[in-house]
Amino acid sequence: MRSKKGFTLIELLVVIAIIALLLSILMPALHQVKEQAAGVVCTAHQRGLLQSYLLYCGDNKGNLPDASVLPNLESDGTLRHDAWVHPPTDENGTILFWTGIDATIEERMRGIRNGTLWPYTENVKLYHCPGDKRMRLGTEVGSTDAFKIYRSYGIQGGLNGQERIMNDPPLGILKLSQIQRTAKTYIFVGENYDGAWSNNNGGSWLLGGGSGPEQAERWWNAPAAWHNEGSTLSYADGHAEKFKWADDRTVAFAINRASVSAHQPNNPDLEMMIDGYVVNLPR
Ligand SMILES: [Zn+2]
Repeated sequence: MRSKKGFTLIELLVVIAIIALLLSILMPALHQVKEQAAGVVCTAHQRGLLQSYLLYCGDNKGNLPDASVLPNLESDGTLRHDAWVHPPTDENGTILFWTGIDATIEERMRGIRNGTLWPYTENVKLYHCPGDKRMRLGTEVGSTDAFKIYRSYGIQGGLNGQERIMNDPPLGILKLSQIQRTAKTYIFVGENYDGAWSNNNGGSWLLGGGSGPEQAERWWNAPAAWHNEGSTLSYADGHAEKFKWADDRTVAFAINRASVSAHQPNNPDLEMMIDGYVVNLPR
């Protein structure tokens, strides 16, 4: 009998096949674990932002921070920037707001540090979800610097946000004490702004596009789905949570809002978001 030294080719091939099979089984599971871990960190970031938000209100007579990142035009024509975060800002202090500007991540972070919430957060990482890849890859609309978005969260538009600016008379609320259902009213939303306006997510997170009764069946700004087809929210009662979207249409819209209609009647996710929105829909 011939003595055996090392492996035969067949044995090697069998071992390689087994390793390949194990990897194919493990990889999706590992990916899920990674996404789950990112979701835990994201929830912690939400909690950090939320605590800062509530502290700000406490220090400012219960007034909510300005949730619209758009410049506010005063009646005398001057621009007022007192939003919770500013648009990207260059080293000379110039706000790089308008389209077509390839703002860098550093300029985006500078805008965040100039916001009114900064003294309470003092950590730029809190504004970024670890599952949000736009900072490296851009969005479904583009991949130049203009589309490399750093900030992952928006504030709902009814909380001293764009609902105030867009409507006459202004809609939404200005004071923390006006929030009645604190456990249902979300403040920070994971937001997949696609960069369609280029460069900066200028507003707050809004619901109810279109007009008439359809507003109560329609998404406007896309939510995020960065954690196993789920996202995170933080609420006015001080809690933050991670959850899974219930309707596939939500995930499709969250990944690429152009790929699916925003008009989604009987979507339980949309109904949950409308329930926690402080402006009644239709407006
Ligand atoms: Zn997240």
